[in-house]
Amino acid sequence: MTAQFHVVFFPLMAQGHLIPTLEIVKLFSSRGLKTTIVTTKLHVPVITKSIEKTNHSGNQINISIIKFPCKEVGLPEGSESLDTLKQPDMFMKFFRGLSLLQEPFEQILQELSPDCLVADMFFPWTTNVAAKYNIPRFVFHGFCLFALCVSENIRSYKPFKDVESDSEPIVLPNFPNQIEFSKAQVPGSDLGIKDGATELFKQINEADITSYGIIINSFNELEKDYVDYYRNVCGRRAWLLGPLSLINRNKDKTLIDEHECLKWLDSKKPYSVIYACFGSVGRLSKLQLHEIALGLESSGHYFIWVVKKSEEAEKWLPEGFEERIKDKGLIIRGWAPQVSILEQESTGGFVTHCGWNSTLEAISAGVPMATLPTFAEQPFNEKLLTRVLKIGIPVGSPLSNRAVSLVKREEVSDAVKRVMEGEEAIEMRTRAKSLKKMACKAVEEGGSSYNDLTSLIDGVKAYRSQSSEAEEEHN
Ligand code: UDP
Repeated sequence: MTAQFHVVFFPLMAQGHLIPTLEIVKLFSSRGLKTTIVTTKLHVPVITKSIEKTNHSGNQINISIIKFPCKEVGLPEGSESLDTLKQPDMFMKFFRGLSLLQEPFEQILQELSPDCLVADMFFPWTTNVAAKYNIPRFVFHGFCLFALCVSENIRSYKPFKDVESDSEPIVLPNFPNQIEFSKAQVPGSDLGIKDGATELFKQINEADITSYGIIINSFNELEKDYVDYYRNVCGRRAWLLGPLSLINRNKDKTLIDEHECLKWLDSKKPYSVIYACFGSVGRLSKLQLHEIALGLESSGHYFIWVVKKSEEAEKWLPEGFEERIKDKGLIIRGWAPQVSILEQESTGGFVTHCGWNSTLEAISAGVPMATLPTFAEQPFNEKLLTRVLKIGIPVGSPLSNRAVSLVKREEVSDAVKRVMEGEEAIEMRTRAKSLKKMACKAVEEGGSSYNDLTSLIDGVKAYRSQSSEAEEEHN
């Protein structure tokens, strides 16, 4: 009997990366592959809960623990998750901690002796480690292909090289669909600006090229032009397996969360509630949160708004706000069941920071968006929504850097109204619903994402058996 094909997964310790990676693990497991997740102790309970059902269904998913070097990099014990770091200076220490994981990770790989490795983009060194053990490494990118193509285009053509102004729109050269960005919207790493993260992003880009290929949480029909661009112009290999949030939900309805906000949503009319949430990592200024509060209130729509516990609402909530909005809005402090909220019929729109998971979750639920990106590739995702897919309205000026320029209450309220009211809103909702249908189809048996997974597994198995044969001949 041949041994079960074994894939090791090494997700970044951050909600936005861990959540989709766990769905990929379950996908691989559902195709009969042996899987092991390498993670730190802090994440074991959450992962165990998430994989419980899959393990009961017969395909065992294993966990292997790696110690995060908090002390060595000067972080308080337990700082093992990107989204729990409080100060900006902790981020660089965290990234340094990731690079120190190389030696213990190698030991784990040696012990497990897998056939294949899927490691997060933030572990670029794993490509070399995998090569040392003669196994292919896939990169899991938390990004969509549109964003990867924009970055690649900007790095190759340098269209901002002689541009002084931060707000002048520049059309990307030789890029599908006449897409323009201002300098303020582009991350420093793509503009060639040197900072503490320059070396890390250089390594990430190099590993994208030298790895076996990239796994993307998206689906072919959503960004077809950019799938072609990535494969044919950039010459890279990518498999689109998403939307990952749909796959296991569709199979198991008992995964639907229970939360008091869902009962509240249930009591409202279809498309009457706007949901606002800004992801797990980014922090908004107190002033910005204050403006968002007043903007949501003056939009006149029902709303659910998620604020982080660390954002201490007492310090920025407008006076008397909670009393005034008590029949109109719900503030959730902490973690909300986002996918379930988006799936409710009464949810008519989503004010989002355009993190890719949130963006795709809304597309999968057929919900149009008001977009307020602040960092990383979020402005690129905004452009995909507003310009290409036409299911989003920017909050404030899309050419500005909204991490530093304050978005005013009127701008929040205007964008919410445009997403929720009138002809334009109906047209956007119709387009969003049609994307939802395509998304559901993509993950069904015979759909594009289902087939991409089949071709990935077949390809990597064939590659592995060829390289094992070559190795045997050599010995
Ligand atoms: N999320 C959630 N509840 C919250 C906040 C976030 O379920 O209260 C989930 C959300 O559904 C998504 C992930 O956390 O799957 C956030 O990922 P995204 O890429 O959108 O943003 P990031 O947190 O990485 O900035």
